[in-house]
Amino acid sequence: MSTLLTMPPHAKLNGPVLADPFGRRITCLRVSVTDRCDFRCVYCMAEDRTFLPKAEVLSLEELDRLCSAFVDFGVTKLRLTGGEPLVRRNIMSLIRSLSRHLQSRRLQELTLTTNASQLAKYADELYALGIRRVNVSLDTLDAAKFAAITRWGKLDQVLEGIAAAKNAGLAVKINSVALMGVNDDEFDAMIAWCGEHGFDMTLIEVMPMGDSGEDRLDQYLPLSSVRAKLSRRWTLEDSDYRTGGPARYAVVKETGRKLGFITPLTHNFCESCNRVRLTCTGTLFMCLGQEDAADLRTPLRADASDEALRAAIAEAISRKPKGHDFVIDRRHAGPAIGRTMNVTGG
Ligand code: SAM
Repeated sequence: MSTLLTMPPHAKLNGPVLADPFGRRITCLRVSVTDRCDFRCVYCMAEDRTFLPKAEVLSLEELDRLCSAFVDFGVTKLRLTGGEPLVRRNIMSLIRSLSRHLQSRRLQELTLTTNASQLAKYADELYALGIRRVNVSLDTLDAAKFAAITRWGKLDQVLEGIAAAKNAGLAVKINSVALMGVNDDEFDAMIAWCGEHGFDMTLIEVMPMGDSGEDRLDQYLPLSSVRAKLSRRWTLEDSDYRTGGPARYAVVKETGRKLGFITPLTHNFCESCNRVRLTCTGTLFMCLGQEDAADLRTPLRADASDEALRAAIAEAISRKPKGHDFVIDRRHAGPAIGRTMNVTGG
């Protein structure tokens, strides 16, 4: 199957676009800028995790070149993630540099997924650089539970970061992983809290990704049952709102805020997938839930003209699979995917 490297009618303005063998246009790139994180969430990675040696990790300049190559190919949304993106040294210089694509309007959106631990420091500058929205991962509003889930995190610091983001004018979406027996008694309180602060919220099913040192089957909570329970307290009105991502949204009538459900296990929405994911070593994963990948670091370093890089990107997109097939049950208790989420990011 070959990549459809098509020229849209406005090609002179925007250049070629990437479409995969199933006709899905690739407009969204998620970039894990570091595999390091200042938290050790129990469902994400083991506490004694070893990280990549620096030599393996792309420099900020190389990350900029790679992201810009995707922008040249018609990517309009760029999300920086990790690890924790805001713990990467000099990360603001990368964001500053990438913001030129916002100014030129080739990028519609540059955004971040963050644990908010560093947001108090960076929120104003992020807004000044054109960031308008951040996704913040927050699974609980209970300080003791927060410490237990993140192993190393402090809830106060995160709430301060979220408040700074709001004050800076950034729209905040709260992402919570639904964990059986851990935070399932808190969703009502979190929906109310998000309503008070004007935040949208998304619930995520725990995915069988890598070894986190915990039994995921004990943590797994199907969102179909969560939604049914929430419907007793809240009026959830289905919404057509789509980001091209895997979430399906409802509007909580009582708060007016959106509530998203990411259900890779009970229901996937791969047919409309418009995204690919790049790791901090320059490996491109065409699907979060598959192992197939493309090495973009070699062509990036081999050829200063970007020609080899562009060919490698096009070839990789021609291998984007139709979808993933995560399974979580007693027969498949181990990780379906070898890498943990801090490698490919959320
Ligand atoms: N450090 C940033 C953060 O906390 O948002 C970005 C990286 S983190 C890996 C991205 C998202 O992946 C977080 O919302 C996290 O909760 C989620 N995540 C990590 N491991 C997961 C798993 N096994 N299943 C579902 N979500 C997971």
